[in-house]
Amino acid sequence: MSKQTITVIKGDGIGPSIIDSALEILNAVGCDFEYEFVDAGLTALENTGELLPQATLEAIERNKITLKGPLTTPVGEGFTSINVTLRKKFNLYANVRPVKSFEGTKARYDDIDIITIRENTQGMYSGLGQVVSEDGSEAEAMSKITREGAEKIVTFAYELAKREGRKKVTAVHKANILKSTSGLFLKVAREVGERYPEIESAEMIVDATCMKLVMNPEEFDVMVTTNLFGDILSDLCAGLVGGLGMAPGANIGQDAAIFEAVHGSAPDIAGKNLANPTSVILASIQMLEYLGEADKAERIRNAIAHVIKTGDRTTRDLGGSHGTTDFTQAVIEAL
Ligand code: ATP
Ligand code: MG
Repeated sequence: MSKQTITVIKGDGIGPSIIDSALEILNAVGCDFEYEFVDAGLTALENTGELLPQATLEAIERNKITLKGPLTTPVGEGFTSINVTLRKKFNLYANVRPVKSFEGTKARYDDIDIITIRENTQGMYSGLGQVVSEDGSEAEAMSKITREGAEKIVTFAYELAKREGRKKVTAVHKANILKSTSGLFLKVAREVGERYPEIESAEMIVDATCMKLVMNPEEFDVMVTTNLFGDILSDLCAGLVGGLGMAPGANIGQDAAIFEAVHGSAPDIAGKNLANPTSVILASIQMLEYLGEADKAERIRNAIAHVIKTGDRTTRDLGGSHGTTDFTQAVIEAL
C-alpha cells in the first residue's frame, strides 16, 4: 500500500509551533505519513504575493487530507476570509467540532461531551450581496440557505450520531425571527429527523441554547446548526472544556477534508512558546479517526489526558506554567 500523503499548512501566528507539536506526536505514535508542506495566509502573502497560492490549492486537492494551522486574513478591503474561501472552494460543507472534558483543566464542568455540526458553506457566511453604500452609511449582507444544503448537513449529523452511538441530535435555529432562512433549515431538520426514529430529535432556538449550554450542558449530545450560529456556539462549547486551546474542528466534504484548530492565529501569544497545542493535536486525532486509525487516535488522547490530569507540564491556559514544547515532550513521554 502506498503511503498516505498529507498536505500540511503550518499557518500564521502560533500555527507553526502547534503544527510542529502535532507532527512530532504523530511521528511518536508511529504514523508513517508523507507530508507535503505548502503555505497559505500571511506567510504565503509575504512569500508569493498571494494569500492562497495555486500550488497550495493543488496540494489540497491532490492529497485530499490536510492538516492546517490557523490562517490570518488581512483586515480591510478586498480580502475575503481564507478559511471561508477554502471551505467553499472544496465544498467542505460539514464542520465537525467536538468538545470533551479532560480531567485537570480549569473548566467549570468535568463531564462535557458535545459535538457541534456546523454548516460550513451557506448562511451568513455565503459572502453574497455584501454591500456598503457609497457614503458608508449603510451596509447590507445576504444569507442563503438551500433545501439541499440543509438536508446534507442535517443528514450528516444524524449519520455521525448513528455511527458513533450518539443518542440525540438538537437542531439549533432562529426560525421565529429569521422565518425564511432559519425557517427552511428547521423544516428540513424535522423531515430528516423523522428518518432516524432510533435517535432522539430536539430543536432549540439559538439564544435559549446559549443559556442552556451554560446551565445544563448535559442535555446536549450532537448539535446541528447553520454557519454563523455554529461558529458562535462552538466557541461557547470550547469554553465549557477549558478554552480555545482544547477545541478541534474537521471540515469535511465529498472529496477533501481539512483538519484544524477552532481558534485563530492568536497574535497576542505568537512566537512566545505559550500556545496550547492540544486543539491541533485533537484535530490530528480527528484526522486519524477519519483515516481509520482509531487505535493511534486513542493512544494520543490517553497521553494528553494523562499530561493534563497530572498537571505539572501544562500550558498557561490550562493553569500550568510550561511552554508548547514542554507540553509536547510530556505527551510524547506519556505515549
Ligand atoms: P480569529 O479572528 O482568527 O478567530 P481571534 O482574534 O478570535 O482570531 P484567536 O486566535 O481565536 O483570536 O484567540 C482568541 C484568544 O484565545 C486569544 O487571547 C488567544 O491568545 C487565545 N488562544 C487561542 N488559541 C490558543 C491556544 N492554542 N493556546 C492558548 N491560548 C489560545
Ligand atoms: Mg476567534
